[in-house]
Formats: sequence, structure tokens, C-alpha cells
Amino acid sequence: MEYELKVLKINDNKIKQLNELSLYTVKDLILHYPYRYEEMLETPLHDETKVIIEGKLIDEPKVFFKGRLSRLTFHIDYHGETLTITLFNRHFLKKNMHVGMKLTIVGKYNEARKSITASEVKLKGLEEISGITPVYSLKEGLTQKNFQGYVNKALSFYKGHIGNSIPDYLCQKYHLVDRQEALFKVHQPQTRSDVISALRYLKYEEFFKFQMTMQYIKQNRTQNIGISKLIDKEQINKFIQKLPFQLTEDQQKVVDDILIDLSSQKLMYRFVQGDVGSGKTVVAAISLYANYLAGYQGAMMAPTEILALQHYQSLKKLFKKTKVNIALLTGHLSLKEKNEIYQQLEQGKIDIIVGTHALFQDKVQYNQLGLVITDEQHRFGVEQRKALKNKGNKVDFLVMTATPIPRTLAISLYGDMDVSTIKTMPNGRKKVITRFVKGISMKPILKDLKDYLASGGQCYVVCPLVSESEAIEGRNASDISKAMASYFKGQYEVGLVHGQMNDEEKNQVMDAFKENKIQVLVSTTVIEVGVDVSNANMMVIYNAERFGLSQLHQLRGRVGRSKEQGYCYLLSQANNSEQKERLEFLENHHDGFEVSEYDLKIRGPGDLLGQKQSGVPTFMIGDIFKDYHILEITRKDAYEALNQHQDDEKIQKMLVEIKNNLTKNNAYID
Ligand code: ADP
Ligand code: MG
Repeated sequence: MEYELKVLKINDNKIKQLNELSLYTVKDLILHYPYRYEEMLETPLHDETKVIIEGKLIDEPKVFFKGRLSRLTFHIDYHGETLTITLFNRHFLKKNMHVGMKLTIVGKYNEARKSITASEVKLKGLEEISGITPVYSLKEGLTQKNFQGYVNKALSFYKGHIGNSIPDYLCQKYHLVDRQEALFKVHQPQTRSDVISALRYLKYEEFFKFQMTMQYIKQNRTQNIGISKLIDKEQINKFIQKLPFQLTEDQQKVVDDILIDLSSQKLMYRFVQGDVGSGKTVVAAISLYANYLAGYQGAMMAPTEILALQHYQSLKKLFKKTKVNIALLTGHLSLKEKNEIYQQLEQGKIDIIVGTHALFQDKVQYNQLGLVITDEQHRFGVEQRKALKNKGNKVDFLVMTATPIPRTLAISLYGDMDVSTIKTMPNGRKKVITRFVKGISMKPILKDLKDYLASGGQCYVVCPLVSESEAIEGRNASDISKAMASYFKGQYEVGLVHGQMNDEEKNQVMDAFKENKIQVLVSTTVIEVGVDVSNANMMVIYNAERFGLSQLHQLRGRVGRSKEQGYCYLLSQANNSEQKERLEFLENHHDGFEVSEYDLKIRGPGDLLGQKQSGVPTFMIGDIFKDYHILEITRKDAYEALNQHQDDEKIQKMLVEIKNNLTKNNAYID
């Protein structure tokens, strides 16, 4: 049962403010956990640091006024030593102070003067002060005290009705408190250990539910019998041998995994992660080819038109010597062209279709769809993937992403899929030379840029903004492109591409860049994923501090994609040491897995995975990095629960809830 906040007799004005925090029900209040705790613990006396100590008042406090400002001074006995305490603007405390009482002082200690400038004086000894106070993230208008009051009301409202959702055998195994106790302790802790035991339960519960969902989906899927495709090993090997390069060890391994999946009765649901430039496209091509040889159509879906076009071109090249009929379906084809493609798809004349979400409109019908590949999956809506998959009843599914994360974490997070990883880079690939340049001016690198252009190369210039913004500071692509165009006038062509242009315009510029009609391409992050122009091996990124590390790594992955040396300049004013450290990290690290791990550590998973799009839930309380071991344990426990404890009442209840949620959110493909 959900109860609205009204039942707690909170006034309408405050309810509005709570709504702004997306809190609408009593349950929402209880699930709005503190984001940190404040604790009063005695500290030693260190010069010029914040200290918390207890002492005995040894004289009458004195009050001085200066205008409306006041100063209260008194002395305390601290382990036999006399300390002078000064407190501003709280003279009213004097009336409740009497010689001999215990006081708790918070403030800055000065060794030479034996004095403390206090920020807080409590008229109690340390042990009487309740140890630990939750701190919530709130918006204007709500105080911590308000909020604590509401949460207390909410907890009393539900008291006695909060049941456990974790089965007893697991609670016993891990010595978990029960759910009600956890919720009370997370909001009303008496001690630090209350907080710890509450968080242990809540994190376990959150991850366990997540893993149960993953396992449930996976088990249901394996019950989905797919088509055992006939794999023409000979033809496939011939195709691989004719490639202009030799597959890397990891590429070959992933191809083997995929071929086994395709030939098996089970539906494939595989997640391939590989660093930028690791060569995922050719893996996709081989999979599509195997699927084609088995007699099925394949679809490859990209998140943008630019990428779709590029995949189409790469695949076309790779399939040149085969009979594969490959087509591109994009939004800007004429109606006539589109209709032709629809018809040919339905008749089975097209073997492989490449496109964006245009691939799964209702109008598009396939003759024998057997394999769907999505590239850069985390940018695709789950809905869209589902729609495409519904185009065929037994379609194998391959998901590719260039945001690599540590393999074990991937398995935990994408627990409903099989995970393959491409770690090795193609032979002869050089590390992109990355330099952090302080400032936001091109001057320090202008000579490098000019030399590079003079040698016949092309350059990307990336800006955080499209056009000038009052709200956000940073270089914008429009102004930079104008400035560069006038600087290089008569010498080099400068192009501009950004997300506010329509696809037609974008494609035109990209094509011109590919054909080297444009030498300097100024852009926003639209070129972030996938774009592959082998003659462009220099990149300048303005305001690099404004991007996530994984994003910067993606960006620089656009250069140095062949045997050529790539260069990436990170221009940044980076005025704090954390920003500087991050950029310097990129100077010295070139492995996407390391970069993502570092990013994960300092920024959390949100930025990394683009969670909202990826279908990976945002965890409310668990931290996939810090609490990684819980994530792992719950994966095993969920597996066991589903296989050995199906009859447990709580497991059954949880499964009902999971099924309902999945149906309600239409959230996963099964
Ligand atoms: P990504 O994994 O970033 O999508 P691509 O598939 O676009 O990477 O490959 C990047 C470049 O590397 C392409 O130009 C491709 O032709 C080349 N490539 C892929 N595999 C190999 C290999 N085994 N050896 C040499 N070059 C390769
Ligand atoms: Mg790619």
C-alpha cells in the first residue's frame, strides 16, 4: 500500500518542497536515506586544527558587545590545563552556564595562546551528546530538522508493518538485522555501529534484488529456445583470411564465442566490450556473415546517422568480395527509396541492413531476421532494442560497447547477458600521445598543429559548447570554427559539426572531412563514438576538465586508429588539483579499462555507464565500486536462491514483485 504524504499531517507548502525532491509517499520518505552522518567524537589538541573536546567550566563567562555583535569568553579545565574559549554571537548561552558543569567545545585550537575559537559550545559532556546525526540531501526551504521530523513520523506510521524481504537463511548467514530495524537505524542511529549494521542490510537487499532480477531474466531467456544455426566454418574462415589484417587473439576468441552461440539452441544474448579502436566492427561483420551463410538476415543498429553511415561503409568494404547484399536505412532517404528498402527486406532480398532506430518502425518487416547487433549499446533505449528484437521471433542479439569496465564488474552489472571482452589492441597500434596543456588558448600548440597540417594530416577540435552560453563557461564550437577559419583562410578548410545540426548537414560535413576536403573539423562531442577517419590523427580538446575521463578516452580514440601516431591535446584551466590529476592520469594511461576503473573510483558509475540509458538501475545506497564485494556475493546468492530455495516464501514474494516490475516498466528484453 502506498500512502500519500498528507497522512502524516505535513503542511501543503512543505509537501510541495518534498515533491521537488521526488518524494510523494510515506515510503518515499523512508527510502530517502541520509547521504552522510555527523558524529561528535573527541579529538586530540592539535595546533590550528578543528578540535572537539570536553572540559569543566572554571569561571563565570564574560560577555562583550560591539554593536549588535557579541563575544562570550570563559575558561575551562581540560585535563588539568586551563584553556580560554571564545564564542561569537551566542551570549545567550551564559544564562544556562554555571561553574563546574561539563561542556563540549568544537572549534579551532591555538597552541600558543592555549585558546579555542569555538564554532559550537554544548552545555553537556561528550558522552551525553547523542553520538551521530544523519545528514540528508535537501533542497531550499527544508531544514535537516524539518526532514528528520518527517522521517520520524513516517517511521512511526509504518512501525510494526515493515516486513523482511530477504529470506531468513540469508539474514542468518550474514548476520543481517531485519528490514524494520535497518530502516530505523539508518535514520535514527544511536551509534556508528547502528549505521553500519543498517547499511549492511540495505545494501545487501538492494543488490540482492537487482541480482535476482538479472538472474530471473537470464533464466527465462535460456528457456527461450532459439534457432540452431548451421555454421559454415569453411566459408567463414575464408572470409577471415581475406581480411586486410590478422584478427587479434581477443577478436578471434570473441568470434568463437559468438559462433558457438549462433549454432546453439539457446538464444544469444551477448555483451561485447572492447576499448576504442580494439576492432569491434570486424567482429560484428564476421557474425553477420555467419548469420547470412546460415540463411538469415542481419540488422546492425547504431545510435546516430553518422555512425550508421560509417558502419554501412565499413561493412560494404568488408563484404565487397562476397554476395552479401547490404543496405542502409536512414531517416533522410526519400519515401520512394525507403519503400523500396522495406519491400526488399520483406522479400528477403536484403541480407544485412544498417541503420538507426529507423530499423524498427512498424513499417519495417523482415523476411527471416536472425541476428541483431547494436553498437554503443549504452546509448540505446531499452524500448528501441526491444522493438527491433520483436521483428523476428527467434533473433540472436549482440550488444557492443566501447566503454569497457572491469570484466567481473561487467558480469555483475550485466548479469543477464554473457560477457565477452576484447582487451588486446591490433598489432602496431601506437599509444595516442596525450598532453595536458594549461589554459584555454591554442597558442602553445599552434606550431605543432601547423606542422601537422602541413604534413598532410587532419585535425579534430572538440569544444564543450555549441555556441556561446551565459550560463556555462567554456569554449564554443561556433566561435572557435569561425576564428580558425579566418586564421587558416586560403590555406586549410575548417568545418563545423554539432548536435543541433540536422543529420543531412552533419553527414555532409563528415563526408567532406573523410574525403579530406576539410582539414580541421571543429565539433562538440557528436564525434565521440565510433567515427573513424584514418588520416585524422590529431585532436585538440578545449575545456577538457568539463568531460568525464572515459569520455575523453573515447574522444581521443578517434585518432591513432591505424599505424599512424595519434596526438591529443587536453586544453584546460584545471584550477584544482583533482582536475589536474585526472588529466595527468590520461597523459600516462592508455588502457580504457584502467581509465574506466579510475573514473569509477572518483566519479562513481553514473557518468561511466550512462545508467539511465543502459538499463542498469541507479543504486540508491549501494556503491558498485566500494561495495563491489556485496554485488558479487549477491550474484551468487541470487543464483542459489533461484535454484535451491525457490520454495522459500520470501523468494517467491520477491519474484512476484520482480515480475510485476518488469511488466510495469517493460524494462528488459526477454
Ligand atoms: P572500435 O572497436 O573502436 O569500433 P573499429 O572496429 O572501428 O574499432 O576498428 C578500428 C580500426 O582498426 C579500423 O580501422 C579497423 O579496420 C582496424 N582493425 C580492426 N581489427 C584489426 C586488426 N586485427 N589488425 C589491424 N587493424 C585492425
Ligand atoms: Mg566502433
